[in-house]
Amino acid sequence: MIPKQVFSFREGNGRMKPLLGGKGANLAEMARIGLPVPPGFTITTEACLHYFEQGNFISDDLSRQIFEALQRLEKEKGQRYGDPARPLLVSVRSGSVTSMPGMMDTILNLGLNDETVEGLASLTNNPRFAYDCYRRLMQMFGNVVLDIDSRHFEHLLHQLKKELGAKHDQDITADGWIRLISDYKQVFILKSGRPFPQDVTEQLKLAVEAVFKSWHNPRAKVYRKINNIPDSQGTAVNIQSMVFGNMGDDSGTGVVFTRNPSTGENTFFGEYLINAQGEDVVAGVRTPLTIDALKTDMPEIYDQLFQAAKRLERHYKDMQDIEFTVEANKLYLLQTRSGKRTAQASLKIAVQMVYEGLLSKREALLRIEPSHLDQLLHRGIEESAVNDLLATGLPASPGAAVGQLVFDADTAVQWTNAGKAVILARPETTPEDIHGVLSAEGVLTSRGGMTSHAAVVARGMGKPCVCGCEEILIQAEEKMMTIGSRVLEEGEWITLDGASGRVISGSIPLREAEMTAELLEMLEWADEIRTLRVYANADNPQDAKIARKMGAQGIGLCRTEHMFFSPSRLPVMQRMILADTAEERREALQKLLPMQQSDFEGMFREMDGLPVTIRLLDPPLHEFLPNIAELQQRLNEQGIMEEEQSEIRKLIRTVRCLHETNPMLGQRGCRLGIVYPEIYDMQIEAIFKAASRCINEGSAVMPEIMIPLVGHENELKILRNLVDFVAEQVLGKEGMRTCPYKVGTMIEVPRAALTAKQIVAHADFFSFGTNDLTQLTFGYSRDDAEGKFLTHYTDLKVLPQNPFQVLDEDGVGQLIELAATAGRSVKPALKTGICGEHGGDKQSIAFCHRTGLDYVSCSPYRIPLARIAAAQAFIEHGSAGDKRQTESGEKALVGFAIERG
Ligand code: PEP
Ligand code: MG
Repeated sequence: MIPKQVFSFREGNGRMKPLLGGKGANLAEMARIGLPVPPGFTITTEACLHYFEQGNFISDDLSRQIFEALQRLEKEKGQRYGDPARPLLVSVRSGSVTSMPGMMDTILNLGLNDETVEGLASLTNNPRFAYDCYRRLMQMFGNVVLDIDSRHFEHLLHQLKKELGAKHDQDITADGWIRLISDYKQVFILKSGRPFPQDVTEQLKLAVEAVFKSWHNPRAKVYRKINNIPDSQGTAVNIQSMVFGNMGDDSGTGVVFTRNPSTGENTFFGEYLINAQGEDVVAGVRTPLTIDALKTDMPEIYDQLFQAAKRLERHYKDMQDIEFTVEANKLYLLQTRSGKRTAQASLKIAVQMVYEGLLSKREALLRIEPSHLDQLLHRGIEESAVNDLLATGLPASPGAAVGQLVFDADTAVQWTNAGKAVILARPETTPEDIHGVLSAEGVLTSRGGMTSHAAVVARGMGKPCVCGCEEILIQAEEKMMTIGSRVLEEGEWITLDGASGRVISGSIPLREAEMTAELLEMLEWADEIRTLRVYANADNPQDAKIARKMGAQGIGLCRTEHMFFSPSRLPVMQRMILADTAEERREALQKLLPMQQSDFEGMFREMDGLPVTIRLLDPPLHEFLPNIAELQQRLNEQGIMEEEQSEIRKLIRTVRCLHETNPMLGQRGCRLGIVYPEIYDMQIEAIFKAASRCINEGSAVMPEIMIPLVGHENELKILRNLVDFVAEQVLGKEGMRTCPYKVGTMIEVPRAALTAKQIVAHADFFSFGTNDLTQLTFGYSRDDAEGKFLTHYTDLKVLPQNPFQVLDEDGVGQLIELAATAGRSVKPALKTGICGEHGGDKQSIAFCHRTGLDYVSCSPYRIPLARIAAAQAFIEHGSAGDKRQTESGEKALVGFAIERG
């Protein structure tokens, strides 16, 4: 049987998104519940995929189904497609399963040609309107179907306006449009070698094909990549009878959000333009009026719109972004979808909807995109430093950004790749600028409103954005912008405050973000649900303090090497490395000991009885020494004394000695601890001295000592003995009872995972070091991979994602699961967790939950994200069951102890 590839709006419903795309399913749903939707039909995503499979070919069958649906539409409307007497006009719009605003193409007013345009003119008694529609069709058709650069059309329009002395498009008469249409016809011949098709059937077929193909346009591909939308979905195509917002002053078009998408406030929010069509609002070509003005302009329409919008919000239980058109005083809804919003708005809306009884707490938690929380924890501007305000535009996307001005997307990318921070300034952005928006720190536009392309895209990406800043004249071609008499050129520093819309000269210091009341509330709900604990990677007392504030339930990784890099400590560390004798080395270590001890004390105090996992020295020793080229240069400097020369020569010899062909696989981690036991000895002594002091002061401590890079059980056995020995020496038998410490290992070498059953004999916990485990499982050195081939790999889909960001479940994940299961088979209460960068990634966190690990550890600012992601994993996958064992003696849900404000 031939599959059904075309559904009229009356045949579909809101649950059919995978087949009809978001727009098609929602149009059908709106029609179903009786809202005013212009009739039409949807070509399915399956038809699109079939079209690609056939080598971009519309099958006879699809063609037949489309034209049958068109005939039914003609009957319903009492009009005919291509009939000059009663012409039916249609729009052709893309509609992907996951919303991709502005990324794919739309063509309006199909069905117009030299004959039907006259029919439309006499039927509406409005030739100006009819010819305006025709020229718009030619412009969109030329650009989307025949790939004619839209600048060719815009240039002619601009010229015409100049000649006629017309300020706005609305000032152009029918004759003006007729002239333009004849010029446009020339553009078609000159730029594409073919005329604008007068055959309306051909128009429709070509338009449908172009929309299918727009699934593969570069901006759509980039958008899918950023948002992890599978390329295999394809797009549906919606063909809908036209309604006209450009019929005169009793018509218009606009976009409304049921709540404020920037702040989340429960106020009707939107914009509209009188006497305008379709894309004018979204494209940001004219700066629109706020929706409040509609209350006075068209009070009845405003009321109807408000009621319909609220009904849709209740129906979908989510904030809606609705496109509407008013044609001769009659309201039509053209689209509804879940509105894109900032992280702040997302939290506020979800929390409010729980209080309004629309959502349960669990539903509200699932509404939060954890990665967007980064945006909330973005910084703001240090107000006292603002002294040169350039202009104020619309606060389109919050957060503050500092950077050097650039005026085109390509330069934004080049400069960013060269390590510069940039602000992209454009008169308005179009979807072609998406790569520039992506790489810039923030975006500034002089035209367009809160629903313009720049605003929508920046909000979605969590980039600060100031829009519609009309005081600024941005001359992108000349690479400059002017504010009054002031000129700013490419490369000058500016600061954007996306929360207030301010554009400020110079580089203003930024201040840290704070947790909002809604975030704290949502985190409490997450903590009530989740079973996976969230620890922090923190290397000093300051980080530990932030970690507590963010709700850390412990420290999962303290990289002790970071304690040796400060200017006062590095020379001592170097002296230790350069020591000729064990005695000299011990002397230097004795100097390092109190430094480490005081750091550990600070961390224990901050963590107040929560586990603190301290990893003994991991990197190769040469990382603490200067490089040979620098030393050689110093040696060659004039006026160096004999004694200093011999010091430098000695240093050069040591650096040469420590040089390794492949340091990542060399003498580091536990290998270092076994070859130079005195280093680990000192570190362990510092940990227990710090613990002992804190205990004497009355605080509880829970040190967990972690051995890095273990690959063989004997390595752990030797070093565990060392820890136990030093602990007893420092604490004494009595003290050992008051300081319940643990000794564990990182599992970051595949052999350790494979022999976990043996290794666990010496371990109280396993912490999966997923950074190294990924390197060693793939056989990639991260620096080389990310610098060279990994982007190609993800572009070519050799790998689905960068495995250093999102855990490779099939490979690395298999090792984790195997080791955790083997470890627990011997020691059921074995504590397990991860401490690589994946601990702050939503997908990887869900994996850890499903695998029954006890905790994830991530950087302090990612803790809120991890808490929400852990709760979502529980809601979506249920309890990890008996794989998990709750540790006794640890505070189970320390999230409640977060400091407020
Ligand atoms: C790891 O390898 O995952 C880890 C946490 O250690 P580092 O990143 O310090 O090598
Ligand atoms: Mg490691």
